[in-house]
Amino acid sequence: MRIDLHTHSSRSDGTDTPTELVRKAVEVAELDVVALTDHDATTGWEEAQEAADRLGIVLVKGIEISTTYEGESVHLLGYEFDPGHQPLVAELERVLGGRDRRLPRVLDKLAEHGIHLTEDDVAAQSGGAAASGRPHIADAMVAKGYIQHRDDAFDGWLNTGGRAYVERYAAPLVDALGLVKDAGGKAVVAHPWSRGSDRVLTTAAFSELRDAGLDGIEADHVDHDVWAREQLRGIARELGLVVTGSSDYHGTGKSEAFALGAHLTDPEQYQRLLG
Ligand code: AMP
Ligand code: ZN
Ligand code: FE
Ligand code: FE
Repeated sequence: MRIDLHTHSSRSDGTDTPTELVRKAVEVAELDVVALTDHDATTGWEEAQEAADRLGIVLVKGIEISTTYEGESVHLLGYEFDPGHQPLVAELERVLGGRDRRLPRVLDKLAEHGIHLTEDDVAAQSGGAAASGRPHIADAMVAKGYIQHRDDAFDGWLNTGGRAYVERYAAPLVDALGLVKDAGGKAVVAHPWSRGSDRVLTTAAFSELRDAGLDGIEADHVDHDVWAREQLRGIARELGLVVTGSSDYHGTGKSEAFALGAHLTDPEQYQRLLG
């Protein structure tokens, strides 16, 4: 059983449509189970489900919510919740609104440095996405010839503290967790020890989150080295949390290290989480 529990389509900042992503999950990565977890949006679920039914693969309907914990950005994966649960819908709208409000401010900062993009330039890249993300701004920079690759934009421009970095609203982690659980879903902290959140996501923090309903920890992720994965497995074992693994696939928007199926979830852990 090949199970990948974290991927992005063009409904957020991936480059494949949900249909393309599901097709590649079957034909390229030979997965048995794939989760679609677009940033802050569930708009890809219907299309992905149709493709999954047609192509014969199990689709896990998910999301990756932008949250904040103790001043650090943390991504929370939510699975198989009711997408119509009003309090959760309202919070996601707030997060998406924060993305919309951030965009003109980022463009102003870029312009101060001689990089001139319009909101339409970014919209041409974010096409069917629920809202703009930094990767779409990066793509617009590539399209206008300012940089070569999406990743170059995160080198001094859009990365945290970069010249064109602007904060946006993110849901308090414990609130987002509560909303996913209230909506009948499962919740897993995504790549907990990438970029700054290793400082705040201690064993004590995971213990608090477990008491608030957390189901699992994503340990096998490209952002974690072997040591981090082992430590996170140990914490999960100690707290009785499920351990997951995933590619965090974004299509051509990221390197081969993020190839579909690059990291997988153990079938037994999958059963515990979603079986
Ligand atoms: P946003 O949610 O719009 O603030 O953008 C966050 C997304 O940008 C992440 O999910 C990644 O896909 C991408 N990203 C963030 N930081 C980096 C980085 N340092 N290098 C490459 N991509 C990044
Ligand atoms: Zn992303
Ligand atoms: Fe993430
Ligand atoms: Fe992701």
